[in-house]
Amino acid sequence: MTLFITHPDADLHETPPGHPEQVARLPAIRAALDDMDLRREEAPDGTDAQILRCHPQAYLDAITAASPTEGWAQLDADTYMSPGSLHAARLAVGAACRAVDAVLDEEAGNAFVAMRPPGHHAETAKPMGFCLFGTVAIAAKHTLEVHGLSRVAVVDFDVHHGNGTQDLLWEEARALFVTSHQSPLWPGTGERSERGAHDNVINVPLPPGSDGRTFRAKIAPALERLDAFAPELVLVSAGFDAHRADPLAQLEWVEEDFAWITERLCDLADAHAGGRLVSCLEGGYDLEALAASAAAHVDVLRRRENGG
Ligand SMILES: [Zn+2]
Repeated sequence: MTLFITHPDADLHETPPGHPEQVARLPAIRAALDDMDLRREEAPDGTDAQILRCHPQAYLDAITAASPTEGWAQLDADTYMSPGSLHAARLAVGAACRAVDAVLDEEAGNAFVAMRPPGHHAETAKPMGFCLFGTVAIAAKHTLEVHGLSRVAVVDFDVHHGNGTQDLLWEEARALFVTSHQSPLWPGTGERSERGAHDNVINVPLPPGSDGRTFRAKIAPALERLDAFAPELVLVSAGFDAHRADPLAQLEWVEEDFAWITERLCDLADAHAGGRLVSCLEGGYDLEALAASAAAHVDVLRRRENGG
């Protein structure tokens, strides 16, 4: 069965009024998944050891010290902490690592983790773009270091470049990181020439206005590289802000495009990893499109897990 992990305390990560990364995002997703036949778990706390596989102690100390007792602490132009944010970010790390444990221990075939704040913009020692800890990169390191796997794929289809994941996995030859994103767009990185220390990063920039058909053509060579890499686990940074309704970008994807890439990633997992796939929520800021796209994504996971 597909495992779904979330936690009510993620909703205690509050952003200022009008901020797109808002509390209402997870309730919208939970409601959309409510009728689905899923195995449901609450996220456990993330540990220092998990976080320190990607971030230095001084960074963990600085984020901990920045946590406000009331109101907000502003870490950069877009990134805020409320009193509940540190706990929420640690739960997001714990949720991703727990999902890896459950899938590798065969308690579940695949998993979707819906937590906030997101993680793929957080660099080694820098919070950025709503993100505090590099959740998916931490899950990749957890896979390699704790479970001893030799090859993990990380695929990020959020509309923004996964600069943080790229930074955290740059020198990790056991991880192949593929990231598609609108370009030009914030954060401005993600050129094809950025390829990792071991040719282990593949950037797939997409021009503004790209629809799902353009995406399918442009991602095809990266899917071939992923197939040749033969990952033992597929991790996904599932951002749904490439949707045509999203206010933060200018791509033209619809729900079927998220279902299509999910099918391809399940194909990859089936071919090499016994179907093992763990997907973690990143962006997606139009609540209706977010809920519908996440439901399309999880519905594919659920059907594929059931052999459909
Ligand atoms: Zn995004």
